[in-house]
Amino acid sequence: MNQLMYKSTRGSAKEVTSSEAILNGIAEDGGLYVPSFIPSIDFDIDELSKLDYKSLAYLVMSKFFTDFTEEELKSCINKAYDHKFTTEEITPVKKTGDNYFLQLYYGPTLAFKDVALSILPHLLKTSIKKQGINKNVLILTATSGDTGKAALEGFNNIDGIDIIIFYPVEGVSAIQKLQMVTHNGENTHVIAIKGNFDDAQTAVKNIFTDKAVQKTLDEKGYMFSSANSINIGRLIPQIVYYFYSYLSLYKNGEITKGEKINIAVPTGNFGDILAGYFAKNMGVPIDKLICASNENKVLYDFITTGIYNKKRDFYITNSPSMDIIVSSNLERLLYFISGKDSTKVSEFMNALTSSGEYEITPYMKNNLGDFYGGYASEAETNHAIKHIYDNNEEIIDTHTAVAYSVYKKYKDDTKDSTKTIILSTASPYKFPKSVMVAIDEKYSHFDEFKLTEEMDKLSDYKIPASIKDIDKKKIVHTKVCEKSEIKDVILDLVK
Ligand SMILES: *Cc1c(COP(=O)(O)O)cnc(C)c1O
Repeated sequence: MNQLMYKSTRGSAKEVTSSEAILNGIAEDGGLYVPSFIPSIDFDIDELSKLDYKSLAYLVMSKFFTDFTEEELKSCINKAYDHKFTTEEITPVKKTGDNYFLQLYYGPTLAFKDVALSILPHLLKTSIKKQGINKNVLILTATSGDTGKAALEGFNNIDGIDIIIFYPVEGVSAIQKLQMVTHNGENTHVIAIKGNFDDAQTAVKNIFTDKAVQKTLDEKGYMFSSANSINIGRLIPQIVYYFYSYLSLYKNGEITKGEKINIAVPTGNFGDILAGYFAKNMGVPIDKLICASNENKVLYDFITTGIYNKKRDFYITNSPSMDIIVSSNLERLLYFISGKDSTKVSEFMNALTSSGEYEITPYMKNNLGDFYGGYASEAETNHAIKHIYDNNEEIIDTHTAVAYSVYKKYKDDTKDSTKTIILSTASPYKFPKSVMVAIDEKYSHFDEFKLTEEMDKLSDYKIPASIKDIDKKKIVHTKVCEKSEIKDVILDLVK
């Protein structure tokens, strides 16, 4: 069988197999790995509908991870999608009123990041073996709140792998922070950075391509990899639920064969929605990909004007996992909409670093037609939470509310009545204060943990075991550092 090879979006790194791309995390020229083409799947809906989540996962991932044997890939899938998820369906679609919410938060850390991060460690471990690597792998990860704990959970006590999480000191929710700082594991390190998510992500990305640091690591018997969505091993597993949710609407008689649907995605680093773009290009009948931002609306501006401008204020919002100004996966979209023009992509990325902005070509703007961009203010987000609760007695989290709110705007704007799946990316229990106060002002003087109990009273969806009594757990990680100290912290760890 022909191997699907991976190249850098910036064009000057060598082509690699999928296992090498997963191991490296980022290409040596600083670009992101992309498959040399997006494979398609013969969309025979009646056949596909018979598959359960794991079989579908195998079908989709085997098109991308072509240097894994069937046995290797199936073993990774079986280890990932087991009882860690509290629903057998893994990613169920819930119809609430006229809305279809794709609930992606039944994994161990209550956010959609679990779907990819429960399999990435197994893909990585298999890749280490396949490539005959005899070094320890050090995973560097920046988090805006949810990736951190999902990665700690996924990589916990895996032999030969150490993981360091950097989270912004201000910005993550109280529950998100506790999930990370109470995490116990031999191979795990959690460090707060004085700065925002962009500072952490940029610092981490720079370290990957820092030759001096690499040399030191190499001498100590270590190599870097990444658990952020810059790693292709994060992105591909997310394609599966776009297939799964489409098929589940079909099985439930909500749509007919071939009927197109829209998808609304609460977006930060552009990883999740990019997986939707891949799914569409593989054959899932998706019409619009609705890209929903919060007040950090750099992607809305980009989709509507073709100009990406990072010189702007950074807002801390109540949907912190989307508080991002430099969306790293957009680089992969630029690659595809430019007709795989890596020279252009490099130019844009250099311009972004040197002058803080770039404007795409008219040809590329034309190719943005799959996307609709919108954003929701804090007030609109809160209103969406209250609206869904008042009308449907369903509680959604702040990120899902951003997507719902933007979807409503889209409908008003375009009068398009195409059925739309809204990605529900986190459990409301991760953001009890923001969610409960949006439902009723009276909760504003309650503390965060008391509110998880109050939420439990209002909802059929009961407080998940993984965060019950989290405020009573022992805090094991207390280190705080300046962003300029990240490098030293890492070098200290590999001593
Ligand atoms: C990470 C995250 C997002 C944004 O996803 P991207 O892939 O970064 O665009 C949205 N919602 C939640 C709850 C998240 O954790």
